[in-house]
Amino acid sequence: MTAKVLDGKRVAQEIRDEVKEKAAVLAKEGIVPGLAAVLVGDDPASQLYVRSKTKACDEAGLFSEAIVMPPDTSREDLGKKLDELNERDDIDGILLQLPLPGHLDSVEFLDRIRPDKDVDAFHPVSVGKLVQKRPGPRPCTPAGVMELLRREKIDVSGKNAVVVGRSDIVGKPMAMLLTHANATVTVCHSRTKDLPAVTREAEILVAAMGRPAIIRKEFIGPGAVVVDVGMNRAETVEQVKDFFGDDAKRMAAFEKRGSVLVGDVHPKDAWETAGAFTPVPGGVGPLTIAMLLSNTLDLAKMRRS
Ligand code: NDP
Repeated sequence: MTAKVLDGKRVAQEIRDEVKEKAAVLAKEGIVPGLAAVLVGDDPASQLYVRSKTKACDEAGLFSEAIVMPPDTSREDLGKKLDELNERDDIDGILLQLPLPGHLDSVEFLDRIRPDKDVDAFHPVSVGKLVQKRPGPRPCTPAGVMELLRREKIDVSGKNAVVVGRSDIVGKPMAMLLTHANATVTVCHSRTKDLPAVTREAEILVAAMGRPAIIRKEFIGPGAVVVDVGMNRAETVEQVKDFFGDDAKRMAAFEKRGSVLVGDVHPKDAWETAGAFTPVPGGVGPLTIAMLLSNTLDLAKMRRS
């Protein structure tokens, strides 16, 4: 069997184009949705994430502001900055880039973001709304996965769905959204006994573990829809060969950068066993940013119009 590739990049572009159209309509009412991205520290990966998020906002006609604070920012200063953004009328969504430096507790500051500006939907109020299926923002990555399934016309209702991972950011909200879409959901984690036996039963399998290519052939039921949320690095020649076979482009990228991106699902095995799967990169990643834009727009509409 050769799996269908679920093109997250294309679907993400569709969503971004739609956000742009809706933003243009709001602009006629004098409303420009605004996102503030707060970064504490100088981690290069976080800087890159923040830059790509603000660039995406610009392209969609949204206002964006990146606020970069030094690594030794105090609790008081970060709190004050978030309060200030909470009060600003031109800011509809506030994103706190994680991880924070060790002396700052992410829960404390995620809780400080006003729920009506909680663009990542990590605040307990947003979590409650998700669980109770009330209107409100949904965490971007799982919301992106649901959009992908919907737009690729993959029927979720009544299906056996297995989510591997139970984090607050991906696994738990993913399970909740699938439940709301009438799937029968099993959540697995590091203590699950005989993981392959459970995942093999999945008609829809979502892997969100952060373990490179751990989901092998024996984990995947023939024809299953496999969504790979994982973003890991393959760091040896042996890994690159094992994961991607004779893919010359990947090997060239590896030789240039010393590592290549790989998901939680073994790409060659998924290709041979699944019915459909999301590639890494180009699958779930682009959807996360697209849903961030969509959430910013929705929060602006809810709060301002
Ligand atoms: P966390 O580390 O917070 O959670 C990982 C989860 O996977 C935990 O619930 C853990 O179980 C479970 N797990 C780890 N190892 C195993 C194992 N061997 N067998 C079964 N379960 C296991 O990660 P996140 O949820 O934040 O992220 C998961 C992955 O998704 C990462 O690679 C991350 O980079 C990626 N990601 C990608 C995004 C995108 O836009 N594409 C966005 C967000 C995340 P336990 O609870 O028992 O410890």
